[in-house]
Amino acid sequence: MAKKKILKRSWAEPFKIKVVEPIKMTTRADREKAAKEAGYNTFLLKSEDVYIDLLTDSGTNAMSDRQWAGMMIGDEAYAGSRNFYYLWDNVKKFYGMPYFVPAHQGRAAEHMISQILIKQGDYIPGNMYFTTTRLHQELAGATFVDVIIDEAHDPLNEHPFKGNVDIKKLDKLVSEVGAKKIPYVCMAGPVNMAGGQPFSMKNLKEVAQYCKQKKIKLWFDATRACENAYFIKEREKGYANKTVTQILKEMCSYFEGLWVSAKKDLMVNIGGILATKNKKVFEQARNMVVVYEGLHTYGGLAGRDMEAMAVGMEEMVEYDNIKARIGQVEYCGHQLEKYGIPFVKPIGGHAIFLDAKKFLPHIKQDQFPAQTLAAEIYLDSGVRGMERGIVSAGRDPETGKHRYPKLELVRLTFPRRVYTQAHIDVTVESIAEVYDNRKKIKGLKMIYEPKYLRFFQGRFERI
Ligand SMILES: *Cc1c(COP(=O)(O)O)cnc(C)c1O
Repeated sequence: MAKKKILKRSWAEPFKIKVVEPIKMTTRADREKAAKEAGYNTFLLKSEDVYIDLLTDSGTNAMSDRQWAGMMIGDEAYAGSRNFYYLWDNVKKFYGMPYFVPAHQGRAAEHMISQILIKQGDYIPGNMYFTTTRLHQELAGATFVDVIIDEAHDPLNEHPFKGNVDIKKLDKLVSEVGAKKIPYVCMAGPVNMAGGQPFSMKNLKEVAQYCKQKKIKLWFDATRACENAYFIKEREKGYANKTVTQILKEMCSYFEGLWVSAKKDLMVNIGGILATKNKKVFEQARNMVVVYEGLHTYGGLAGRDMEAMAVGMEEMVEYDNIKARIGQVEYCGHQLEKYGIPFVKPIGGHAIFLDAKKFLPHIKQDQFPAQTLAAEIYLDSGVRGMERGIVSAGRDPETGKHRYPKLELVRLTFPRRVYTQAHIDVTVESIAEVYDNRKKIKGLKMIYEPKYLRFFQGRFERI
């Protein structure tokens, strides 16, 4: 047997804290009141009533001093802002795409690309759905088809690349509906809804080759692409000595184009990107952005926002930065393991996904176990997570029935560069407390349901 290595050097963040923001500690009675008012939906809580906010890593990042300095040199000209050209240069440099249109968020870019590429009756295969992505594909007339590998639907499967596409599933769809009905295959990584799980470069190459053969385009939701590149570097043979920048560039090279929510990898508070190699698509998007977002040199953003994005792009590829971010998520996972708390394995890139089906096996899926668990954790400690289960999955547009996803999860998402290890400890202790009392927990009833993306605004009552 190989000798076990005992000495392990830990890591620390490659930055120190310069500005602090106080957070409020509340009592159980305060939280009971706040949760009731919010219809037991953590999206409807006031941020003021939250102690540690793990709702999302979207736009909740702490910017660096360089990014803040960049905010002061915003060129707020209506047309041709200097910051736009700096950002465009960095889009070319890091994503390798020659053409670029700015947008105010990722979903604005998703709206444009879906309207441009999709026709009524089309199909979009993808490695699991993402809420806004699928909705824009559906609004443009397409049906989304999940072609992720089966392992992604099993929260305990330790496959290192659970974000991979199953080419057999893709091929089955192509033979059923024909390549002409598939304007593009959509890949994202790490896959948010699968628990922050990456795809491998090998899989991407195979998908790209398949698509080329069938003359189907390949588009990339590159919102968290740097985290995917980090996992490739850590886990895939042949990439250990490549930089994140090199891996990111190689990944992007297989796609015709991509969109990015800058609120993630780029560590800003707002922003989005649409970038492509296809000049025709670019021209259409550049025309469309004027209708929905603003002139093509600002796309709904201020000059200062574009400057912060451009600087953020330079920081997002720094290895130590991603290592500290993912290291914090891993630390949380390892602490949870000590209490035997069920969550998705392997530990994902941006979040821990508690397995609510295992946590609360006595609550039926139509009584919203994950929604319930997120509410209970908030009630215990003021830690805010969110539901990723039947509420997020929504209703089937054809039958109007609930979609029953295999995974019923509570997502604890870590804002970049915001919380310390002590915050993570407090969070884990609270979840452990809820776990000890789990048998007493009852489910929820939905009392208000909006038509679109119901998880944002739906309201619930205790049963
Ligand atoms: C956040 C996100 C989006 C949507 O971006 P917004 O900026 O929130 O509009 C799309 N895809 C993925 C993978 C995301 O994480």
